[in-house]
Amino acid sequence: MQITKHDGRTNQDNPLHKSIRKVTLAKEVGFCFGVKRAINLTRQAIAERENVFIVGDLVHNKSVTDELESKGLQKISDFDEQRNGTMVIRAHGIPKVKLNDARNRGLEIVNATCPIVMRAQEAAKNLENRGCQVVIIGDQNHAEIKGILGALDQPALVIDSLAELHAARAEHRLKRKVGVIFQTTHALELCREIVNELVFMCKEIQIINTICRPVQMRQDDALDLAEKVDLMLVVGSRTSANTMELASLCRHHNPYTLTLQDEEELRDEDFEWAYHIGIASGLSTPEDIVENLRQRILRYAGPVIPEKRPQLSYDG
Ligand code: SF4
Repeated sequence: MQITKHDGRTNQDNPLHKSIRKVTLAKEVGFCFGVKRAINLTRQAIAERENVFIVGDLVHNKSVTDELESKGLQKISDFDEQRNGTMVIRAHGIPKVKLNDARNRGLEIVNATCPIVMRAQEAAKNLENRGCQVVIIGDQNHAEIKGILGALDQPALVIDSLAELHAARAEHRLKRKVGVIFQTTHALELCREIVNELVFMCKEIQIINTICRPVQMRQDDALDLAEKVDLMLVVGSRTSANTMELASLCRHHNPYTLTLQDEEELRDEDFEWAYHIGIASGLSTPEDIVENLRQRILRYAGPVIPEKRPQLSYDG
């Protein structure tokens, strides 16, 4: 337990008391507003309607998807055969053609696409209307990118690394006038790196910053925390792209970064050497999972054993 003295110092300022662990949470943990909104819309749909279904998982978190499915949400792999019922659209959105197809089949739609994702789709369309070749910095396999591509009339270029950018240029796939947007959850550092080179490859470049501000703030805060702590824990699903990206960024700032799905994955030897432990979470990680992890560390009564610090960084 940390005890604050009247002069503002804590018991942990004294090295003699460093046998007591300190746990610091990132400023923002738990769901982002887009995920909260999607979960609330889905809960409401299940409560009010029958035959509510979704293609894939609403969020990359098993406890949430289990809860929704236990209340009646049906998970399907494709809606090709679906002729009636209500389809929930995930926060990532879906391509326009699929949305129209669902409507034409007579399906009811609960559109939980995050407003920030919708703005990214609109930004891409605006750039296309201005005569630009749209360049999206992001992961072409991500559902959000498929939704953005589906909002365009012309094919766009999706780039996720400098190597991919150089390949596009060498293969003459890059036009002279380009309009750039970013996957909303992408790391600003990576986007900046690619844009810095791209500006010298085109005659005209227009950029609309579509990075989600809450994501950016979380990343900045987590990186700041990672630099200050002995061990950084990033909690979230391994299928969640933003969790894995956050962990990768943190690892650049602190090689002692570990990715966990929940507190049950944390072993004593993972943290018994660390005095100060930081915790950050993905955008689809419920707050109670973060709190359970914090409690798991605080419950551990063993002393800090710095000499047990592993020599190699974690693979996460
Ligand atoms: S991360 Fe941002 S863009 Fe994505 S769902 Fe959350 S609020 Fe929306």
